[in-house]
Amino acid sequence: MSSSFTATHEIKYLDEIKSLFAIDFDCLFSKETYSRPLRSYHLIKSEAQCQFLKKGSRCGQEHSHGFAVECINGQRVLIGNCCAFNHLGLDDDQVKKALLELGSAERISIRTHQINERLKDRTELITRVKNALKQLRHLETQIFRIREAFPEAVFENLVERWRRNSFQITWEYQITKKDETAKGKGAVERLWYPHICGFLKGLGLWLDLDAQGYQEKLYSFLHRVEAIPTKKRLTKAELLETEAIFRELGALSVIEREFGAQQKLIFDFLEPANLVLTVQLVKTQALRAKNVEAVQQLTSTLLGVRPERFVAEVDQDLKQRYGATGIRIAS
Ligand SMILES: [Zn+2]
Repeated sequence: MSSSFTATHEIKYLDEIKSLFAIDFDCLFSKETYSRPLRSYHLIKSEAQCQFLKKGSRCGQEHSHGFAVECINGQRVLIGNCCAFNHLGLDDDQVKKALLELGSAERISIRTHQINERLKDRTELITRVKNALKQLRHLETQIFRIREAFPEAVFENLVERWRRNSFQITWEYQITKKDETAKGKGAVERLWYPHICGFLKGLGLWLDLDAQGYQEKLYSFLHRVEAIPTKKRLTKAELLETEAIFRELGALSVIEREFGAQQKLIFDFLEPANLVLTVQLVKTQALRAKNVEAVQQLTSTLLGVRPERFVAEVDQDLKQRYGATGIRIAS
């Protein structure tokens, strides 16, 4: 059965059997001339003909699932799975056992081969996980910097807006009109109108990155990949474990994509024009001034005026733009 141990894949075509074994298609064989099984096959089409001699004539059944077997005189023939177990192996445990063992040895050989092929990429896989961990640390550093720059209440406001999908920042301005009609002379009419300051960009999962448990996931993955045995032959338990790890490869790709997406969002958030919008995010003057400081810190540029002055100028511009008598943040 030495050939079965080098099986690297399931045989699916009759031509492949022909290329592996010199099959004597005219030969008929019976239990008396049978010697041993060589390989099993699972053809896509039922294109193999059973050569078993049954009740004095050739079985001839066309089949897809069967065995290439060797006769005692060295001739090689094909037998369908049905005849192999129901006639050739009937009441003969040794024949049945040989057929079953061949199938099992082939399956293990095929799986081991597939895993060994993928193990060639083991080092690359470890590098990928380590790179993902590096990317995670890089994200965490940037998030920490943003978190430190803004007052806690403002950061919470950002988280809240991300959760609600609420990215539009709106203020309101007040227009006061004097009633000049004779009837209501002297009376004033005050109305509020909305002004959209802009849309915050770049809010995303990074605002709650810690809760995602990426670090634990990646380290657990790394430890399991490093624990994959590098020897050629794996035990059944090792095979199962290795296969399970490779199935998780999909999860690693998802994490890599997520990190890429969050990196892009942070980049968008840190755009100076976007950061300046945070000044309009809250109503408290003191917090707004702190946001101006955050913008200066995160963009590493000075805005040229004191934070309080900057806030006052923003408000002044808005009032002048509409000739407004008052402004307030929209609730
Ligand atoms: Zn048959």
